[in-house]
Amino acid sequence: MRAIALHEDVIVVESALWRTTCTILRSGDEGFVIDSPVLPEELEILPAVLEQSGFRLSGLLATHADWDHLLARLAFPGAALGVAETTAARLRAEPGAAQRELREFDERFYISRPAPLSLGSVEALAVPGYCGLGENELELHPTGGHTVDGMAVWAPWLSLLVCGDYLSPVEIPTPAAGIDLYLDTLTRLEPLVAEASHVVPGHGGVIEREKARKVLYEDRAYLEDLRRDGEGASLPAGRRDSEQRRRHAENVAGRPGR
Ligand SMILES: [Zn+2]
Repeated sequence: MRAIALHEDVIVVESALWRTTCTILRSGDEGFVIDSPVLPEELEILPAVLEQSGFRLSGLLATHADWDHLLARLAFPGAALGVAETTAARLRAEPGAAQRELREFDERFYISRPAPLSLGSVEALAVPGYCGLGENELELHPTGGHTVDGMAVWAPWLSLLVCGDYLSPVEIPTPAAGIDLYLDTLTRLEPLVAEASHVVPGHGGVIEREKARKVLYEDRAYLEDLRRDGEGASLPAGRRDSEQRRRHAENVAGRPGR
C-alpha cells in the first residue's frame, strides 16, 4: 500500500490490489474517508494513518456500491457510511451482495479477515447536493454508467475530484449500466476536471488535471468506438495489456465486469 500526502488536509492511499484508492480528507476538526483499500493489512493500518496525521474521523463515504469500495467499515466499525441515494437504493435492492462478493474474493485468494463486513447505518445523501465537512462543503455529483449508482466528490477549496470508477489511467471503462449513461457522466465530469488540480480515480492513483483530461478524451473515444465497432474498437494507449483486453472482450460480449 502507498500513502501520499497530497496536501496537509489530503492523504491518498493506494491499495496494492487493483491500485484501488482511498482518499482521506480533512477540514477543521472533521475528517472523511472516501472508499477503501482492499487487503486486510491495509485496512488494519488505516486508523493509524489518520492518527499519525492528526486527522479525526467523522464519517465514511463511498463513491458507489461495488464491494471493493465499501470496506472502510472494516477499519472503522463504528463509523457511519454516507452514499448517494442511488447507491443506498442499490444496497437495499441487493442485500448482502457486497458481503457475498467479498467472501468469494477472500475464498479465492485464501484471505482471512478478523471480522465480517457490516455496513451499519447507511446514510443516503441527495445527489446532486452538498455535504458539509468542517468549515467547508463538498459537492456531490451523480455518476452512472460504470454501475447504475454513484457519485463523484468535488472538494472546491482543494480543487480535488474523487470520482469513483471513472477516469482511471490503468483500466478501460466498463459500462455495465450502459454506454450512453457512461458518456453522460464523462460530460458532467469534464468541467470539474478542467478546474481540478488533482483527480483521484477509483483505481490507479492520483493524476493531475492534464492527465485526467487525456484519460477522459480517450475513454470517450473508446466508448464511441465500442458502440460503433464492437470488438474492433481500439484500446487507449497504455491500457492494452492482457487484463484490459480481457475486460474489453467482456464489454463486447455485453457483460462488463466490476
Ligand atoms: Zn472499483
